[in-house]
Amino acid sequence: MDRFKKFIKSRYGMDSLNKFLILASLVLSIFQGLAASYDKVKLAGFLSTFAISFFVFFAYRALSGNMALRRLENEKFRKISWPLRKNLRKKPRDKKYAYFTCPNCHKSLRAPKNLGKIRVTCKECHRQFEVRT
Ligand SMILES: [Zn+2]
Repeated sequence: MDRFKKFIKSRYGMDSLNKFLILASLVLSIFQGLAASYDKVKLAGFLSTFAISFFVFFAYRALSGNMALRRLENEKFRKISWPLRKNLRKKPRDKKYAYFTCPNCHKSLRAPKNLGKIRVTCKECHRQFEVRT
């Protein structure tokens, strides 16, 4: 059991890109099932190939031990998908917090208001930068 825990801890795990991959794989599987039920055999085969590829890529990244490279991939993914994501998220905001985005990976971050100028570390890419709250 301890060896298993150690193994999981040394693996990369979940990030934005992996969330996208597992979701894409799931959605493609659903459409593949639909296509198959309508006897669209070629389309179903095409979709399942993609669903499996996404899943394999997800599993590979989640179990990878190369943190630096995986983090770099995730950063690139966040940069590319930023124009899409910024329109998608419209969460209600807590007025007690100041909201800002990481200058490096555009992750949305927050900090309690009225702290003045503070130094924050991005949860996603670990870049440090200063913000005024
Ligand atoms: Zn960041």
